[in-house]
Amino acid sequence: MRSTPLIRKFYRLKRSRLKVKTTKSLLLKDCTKLFNKIILKERINKCEWCGRTKRLNIGHILPKGQYPRLRYFKQNVILFCFPCHPPRWHNNPLEAAKFMLETRGENYREKLLVYDKILPRLTNIQIGLYILAFKQEINLRRNVQNTSSSQSPHTPD
Ligand SMILES: [Zn+2]
Repeated sequence: MRSTPLIRKFYRLKRSRLKVKTTKSLLLKDCTKLFNKIILKERINKCEWCGRTKRLNIGHILPKGQYPRLRYFKQNVILFCFPCHPPRWHNNPLEAAKFMLETRGENYREKLLVYDKILPRLTNIQIGLYILAFKQEINLRRNVQNTSSSQSPHTPD
């Protein structure tokens, strides 16, 4: 294939687009890992629906694809186990609505929509800021744990 200026321009453009996409997906991967760690710890490694402790995964109340600003918003996530997350949550809307009402109260989705208007757009810079904040939160918690465990020795059974 002959390389014309137009073809060269096309490949340059393609490369630069690819680079941008990769940066964002790497940042999202890092950020999600930290965020999930915090959620698992906060919700004591238990499915919020059935209490199982195995094969846990994090589900979004308002879907992260449609509402990217709420992707790392704690109030928008639920810790599920695998048997609860795709089958019950996605395929049984009546049961899911009942669960939402019992655990989150009325009009919860509408309340979340307000935050979708307030929270910043998920740009690379914003993801970077979340990463820093989550790292700080994890470290802070680790320090608190260390000091509390050194101050209160285990009592024998
Ligand atoms: Zn479950």
